[in-house]
Amino acid sequence: MEFAWNESEEAYRAELHEVLSTLPADWWESYAPHGPSSPRLMEHARRFNARLAERDLIVRHWPREYGGCDASAWQQIIISEEMWSIGEPRSSLYLGTNWAGPAIMKFGTEAQKRRYLRAIAAGELLWCQGFSEPEAGTDLGNMKTRAEPDDDGYVVNGSKIWTSYAARADVMFLLARVGGKGKGGVSCFIVPMDTPGLEVRPIPGVHSRHDFHEIFFSDARLPADALLGEEGNGWQIVQAIIHYERIGAGRYEKAARALAHVVDVLKARGEFDDPVVRADCAAALAAVEAARLQTYLVIDGRAKDKAPGAETYLARWAMIQADHAVANLSSTYLPDLLVDGADGHLRAQFNSAITAGIAAGAAEVQLNMISGRHLGLPRGA
Ligand SMILES: Cc1cc2nc3c(=O)[nH]c(=O)nc-3n(C[C@H](O)[C@H](O)[C@H](O)COP(=O)(O)OP(=O)(O)OC[C@H]3O[C@@H](n4cnc5c(N)ncnc54)[C@H](O)[C@@H]3O)c2cc1C
Repeated sequence: MEFAWNESEEAYRAELHEVLSTLPADWWESYAPHGPSSPRLMEHARRFNARLAERDLIVRHWPREYGGCDASAWQQIIISEEMWSIGEPRSSLYLGTNWAGPAIMKFGTEAQKRRYLRAIAAGELLWCQGFSEPEAGTDLGNMKTRAEPDDDGYVVNGSKIWTSYAARADVMFLLARVGGKGKGGVSCFIVPMDTPGLEVRPIPGVHSRHDFHEIFFSDARLPADALLGEEGNGWQIVQAIIHYERIGAGRYEKAARALAHVVDVLKARGEFDDPVVRADCAAALAAVEAARLQTYLVIDGRAKDKAPGAETYLARWAMIQADHAVANLSSTYLPDLLVDGADGHLRAQFNSAITAGIAAGAAEVQLNMISGRHLGLPRGA
């Protein structure tokens, strides 16, 4: 495995830096601390994503026929690192580039590919993900939302919860049950958010007032071509994309840059000479770099077209540890900077660390997967 970036990867990062230099001067104060689903950031993302698209920077890792540049998976992690590290100015466009788009490439009809893939590459679509329900988070197979077939499509009834981005997204990647129990019968749909019968209600969260929503479907009618793949094939699609959802955002880079900022502040305050402080900072740095290397192992496999394995769960677990290590450091040594309006950079990292072990799959579930698939331990041991 070669760890150095090659020339075209360095050039790509430099181009991204040029576009990032156009972010508003009050980015860390007024945008990043409120999260990538906050109204102001999402509205700004539409203009920012257009600037990325003008220079063909959004989906370099996609095939040319879908608006990409045939670049390797490494370019996807480069854009993720650069964007995530400063609070994801693309907002939920990344859902489209990282996994919804690839799912459409793999399972979609030609008409769906024409409709959605170019629009993602052009930075035009903000996505949300309608998976979780009140009784179905980790246990996703327990979902109740139903899509009943009728003459010319489906009628959806039920509800989703914790849906990030929903109030301002354009489309939802929805899981709903067409028939059957458990994982059988689960189907995937692509649903425009202005579909009549779809209602979005915000839920203010402790990490962000704008992130969570409940979604209610009341006889919402979907055309037949909203279905992605075949009826009842949703679980297979979820299995194919889940690794790209879990490992795709460069969270460790956000933790790395926040850690560097913590160290700068501690030095400026004359507190960095304390050996205990230095040891805590070193432990956080070790956690961050472990997460980076575990992620790079996953990306290396992707770049070589290897099927994803247990290293995905190791990488996600390492990423959660890194987020927590840096958030613990700032809350231990710099709590005065975490209050509203004090230091937007540290606040943004701290807020996202609060939920790191729950969003995109609970931390404990990653451990279960590691124990079974990586260590080969028996269930219940
Ligand atoms: C910031 C954030 C954003 C989110 N955005 C979205 C979104 O956009 N779309 C969406 O669909 N969902 C979203 N979610 C929901 C998220 O996917 C679920 O919260 C997550 O899958 C856990 O499900 P749950 O909340 O129902 O908790 P549960 O499944 O009830 O789990 C609660 C806790 O029980 C323990 N536990 C549960 N099962 C096991 C097990 N098998 N082994 C060991 N321990 C276990 C774990 O400690 C877990 O944290 C988001 C969540 C957060 C925090």
